[in-house]
Amino acid sequence: MATASLEIAKRNPPAATPAASDAARLDGIEKIAELQASPGAGPGRPSLAGLTRDELKAKLAEIGVPERELKMRVAQLWHWIYLRGATSFEEMSNLGKALRARLAEIFTLDRPQVVSEQVSKDGTRKWLLRMPSTGPLDKGVEIECVYIPEVDRGTLCVSSQVGCTLTCSFCHTGTQRLVRNLTSQEIAAQAIVARDRLGDWPGRTPPDGAFVPSDGGRFVSNIVFMGMGEPLYNLDNVVNAIAVLSDNEGLGLSRRRITVSTSGVVPQMERLGLQANSMLAISLHAVRDELRNELVPLNKKYPIADLLEACRNYPGVSNARRITFEYVMLKGVNDTDQDARELVRRLSGIPAKINLIPFNPWPGAKYECSDWERIERFSEIVFRAGYASPVRTPRGRDILAACGQLKSETEKLRARARLMLESGIGAEGVYALGDADA
Ligand code: SAH
Ligand code: SF4
Repeated sequence: MATASLEIAKRNPPAATPAASDAARLDGIEKIAELQASPGAGPGRPSLAGLTRDELKAKLAEIGVPERELKMRVAQLWHWIYLRGATSFEEMSNLGKALRARLAEIFTLDRPQVVSEQVSKDGTRKWLLRMPSTGPLDKGVEIECVYIPEVDRGTLCVSSQVGCTLTCSFCHTGTQRLVRNLTSQEIAAQAIVARDRLGDWPGRTPPDGAFVPSDGGRFVSNIVFMGMGEPLYNLDNVVNAIAVLSDNEGLGLSRRRITVSTSGVVPQMERLGLQANSMLAISLHAVRDELRNELVPLNKKYPIADLLEACRNYPGVSNARRITFEYVMLKGVNDTDQDARELVRRLSGIPAKINLIPFNPWPGAKYECSDWERIERFSEIVFRAGYASPVRTPRGRDILAACGQLKSETEKLRARARLMLESGIGAEGVYALGDADA
């Protein structure tokens, strides 16, 4: 998963990585007690927050709103949910009393539950969100979502799946099996929760220490699909979520500020461009198929040449709308001068930006991050070839919020449960100890 902090740190080595010790991580944790329960939520009442216009329309039709009123009612709800951040139907003053009561009887405006919020020393915030059950076979899932404040933007890094079917060898999420796709509502709701927690709705105040845009702009100005999961394996939901996020009468994020990162699902790239019209990022990481097969096993199916061809044909690609190529710096693996020269050669003719990402270690990873001098040298070669070569400043490392480090808490607890069971400790103890592991 990604931090998506695109600051240029070319000349400034990143601060020493704080050890991800339990103590350091605990420092940043705030349990959000008041959000543990959803006030007023009865069992089975679905939430309308995060739905698309069509979904809202269908819900209203279901409860008997007459066809001739549907368009206007959807517009009203849209305004309250996405522009005002309403959390109750009661406050929707331009809806009749009877309709408000009916809506509250059948639906809620609940958000995914914020199980924990961790605030890094650098202002990065990571939320563990619990998505309610979607049916009898689903007990509900947990995902992570990260907010990265910078001087000129606030980037929200969202998840598109719980876990990932792909098994990139350097990625922590890749060690977790896929649990399920997120619905478009669950994807869009991540932005709603972020704005709730940042106090970023008209009339609300931001929490202490939150970054406040000096130009009066939005706290969440950019969205990157660089959290858990492969967005192009859940494309319908990603496309619908982007429609909600970018709607001008609501959350209003420009599609040019929404970036979808893929490990290279070639057959879906064109559809992403045509239907979502978002920016594209490619997790390249290697310039030879042999090595990329190892790092990003999906490469065996869609090798580099096919991937780059799909990039050349990406709808809307131009010098003003460049494709970002992500390249994780792995010590002694993909970081030679020759790799840098080959990278530049292979990208020639594609309107591209190159992002060098220092590898973010996680417990059990078999790689190390390249030395800073090596990254500088690599970056220099890329820079001389005419590319700005920002090195992504690692953000939120003290709360394990950086690229490729997101993994659901449920999964971590399960792993811990296994370990404890193996050592003869009862599973009940695991959840009691869960906080210490968070
Ligand atoms: N599945 C998509 C999006 C999520 S991963 C994809 O692979 O593009 C977001 C980015 O984080 C990808 O570029 C991924 O390669 C990178 N990443 C994963 N693990 C990482 C790690 N441990 N250190 C640095 N970057 C990592
Ligand atoms: Fe999945 Fe992306 Fe991680 Fe690869 S890097 S395992 S595609 S989340």
